[in-house]
Amino acid sequence: MHKPLLLNRRELLKVGTGLGISSLLPFSAVSANTLQTQAHIVILGGGAAGMAMANRLATRLEGGTITLVEPRSTHHYQPGWTLVASGVWQPDKTMRPNAQFVPRGVKWVREYAASIDADNKRVGLANGATLDYEYLVVATGIQLNYHLIEGMSPSLVGQHGIGSVYASIEGATRTNQAIQTWLDSGQGKGIFTAAPTPVKCAGAPLKMTFTTLSRLEASGRRDAFEVDFMAPGDALFSQPWVNEFVKQRFDEQGVNRRHHYRLSAIDPQAKQAEFTFVGPDSEFTSHHQLREAEFRRDNQPTVIADYDFIHVVPPMSAHDFVKQSALIAQDGPFRGEWLDVDIYTMQHNRYPEVFGIGDVIGAPINKTAASVKAQAPVVEANLIAVMQGNPLPARHTGYTSCPMITGIGKAMLVEFGYEDNFAFMPSFPFIDPTDESWVTWVMKDRMLQPAYYAVLEGQA
Ligand SMILES: Cc1cc2nc3c(=O)[nH]c(=O)nc-3n(C[C@H](O)[C@H](O)[C@H](O)COP(=O)(O)OP(=O)(O)OC[C@H]3O[C@@H](n4cnc5c(N)ncnc54)[C@H](O)[C@@H]3O)c2cc1C
Repeated sequence: MHKPLLLNRRELLKVGTGLGISSLLPFSAVSANTLQTQAHIVILGGGAAGMAMANRLATRLEGGTITLVEPRSTHHYQPGWTLVASGVWQPDKTMRPNAQFVPRGVKWVREYAASIDADNKRVGLANGATLDYEYLVVATGIQLNYHLIEGMSPSLVGQHGIGSVYASIEGATRTNQAIQTWLDSGQGKGIFTAAPTPVKCAGAPLKMTFTTLSRLEASGRRDAFEVDFMAPGDALFSQPWVNEFVKQRFDEQGVNRRHHYRLSAIDPQAKQAEFTFVGPDSEFTSHHQLREAEFRRDNQPTVIADYDFIHVVPPMSAHDFVKQSALIAQDGPFRGEWLDVDIYTMQHNRYPEVFGIGDVIGAPINKTAASVKAQAPVVEANLIAVMQGNPLPARHTGYTSCPMITGIGKAMLVEFGYEDNFAFMPSFPFIDPTDESWVTWVMKDRMLQPAYYAVLEGQA
């Protein structure tokens, strides 16, 4: 199964510029010119998506004002968190000061946005101030809804056998310690969970299972450990080939798969988890219906499971202040939960001066930094077209990419988009998306981080 590929140095460097290189090509010509403007553009959120847009627009626009609303002083490289939680990376490798990325000329407001009045083109800040805009880019990422699991809170991560790679960098570090404590105990049951909503990096809960299996196998006592995976839907991953691959691999590695169960409550002291059976019709692709059904627990059967270690994946959504604004989807599968954009142009479906980018948008796939890389030139080109009164020239293909870690030291580069039932969109002729290889592991471990920072800097 493990097929090492031999690459020369030039090819490896080419890999390092990855994270979806193909998605950029159509727009390189569009990006050549600058636009004179007096407009005020507000960007909400300065993570991967917001910072990329701040840098791109700062280069393209002359005059005008760009305001970036980002409360944090530290930028977190979240794709590194799975490596931290798996004991491969030290946490400090994932942090950099935001000041390194904010471009000159952009006004950085270090505050939380608290409201959006889309009809009056005004953003309210947590300190009570307001910002008027002519154009708005919403890039606030995801809200982790741990509170929807009764008894659960991110502060519990690292205690009572609870792990969660998503909680924070500290949470990822404590998740590694919780796994190590379980390993050191020499036996017992681990439960890995998935969420009944879209999540960022849908592969992350699977990666945590695979890397933990590697650690259990390396302990020489694999048989002493029981591993369960509890999934709310029938699928484990949206790309059909990968979905089947992961199911088969879990079966081969002795993982007990249970489908149509969501984690509904946890009792940390007793080390017990409650799972609600949500029925065979549940799928994580019908987000809204699923949430409505799943978070109403009355009359639904539940099971209680003991665990020694549990990996908790919280339900996710747009942040509350986005949900409370007129910008949230009003109908369809993303209703009430995600930003209402055209999934191809990235323009808001009802407010043409508003664009969305990154994890916050309602889309059938797309919650990765690789998606941000593909979306950023589309948002740039289309926003500038709107400012000029021109038709929108750019379309997002839905490109996303996930280096699916299938064990410590091996991974597959899974790249796909909206078309043809999420067909593969491989960027590199020498990487087969269905092959596990050390090359993709090396890419994840060493090369994607510089490529990611290039995206933030608007260079890729
Ligand atoms: C464990 C894990 C593993 C991952 N692995 C991969 C991977 O292998 N490959 C990959 O491509 N992607 C991966 N990702 C996903 C990737 O990190 C995200 O998709 C990407 O960061 C999305 O960018 P974003 O700007 O939309 O959100 P973020 O980068 O999360 O940025 C959102 C920003 O908004 C700010 N913000 C929040 N609320 C407010 C507010 N009220 N006002 C103003 N600002 C606000 C936040 O401070 C933050 O800076 C992973 C993520 C995690 C958590």
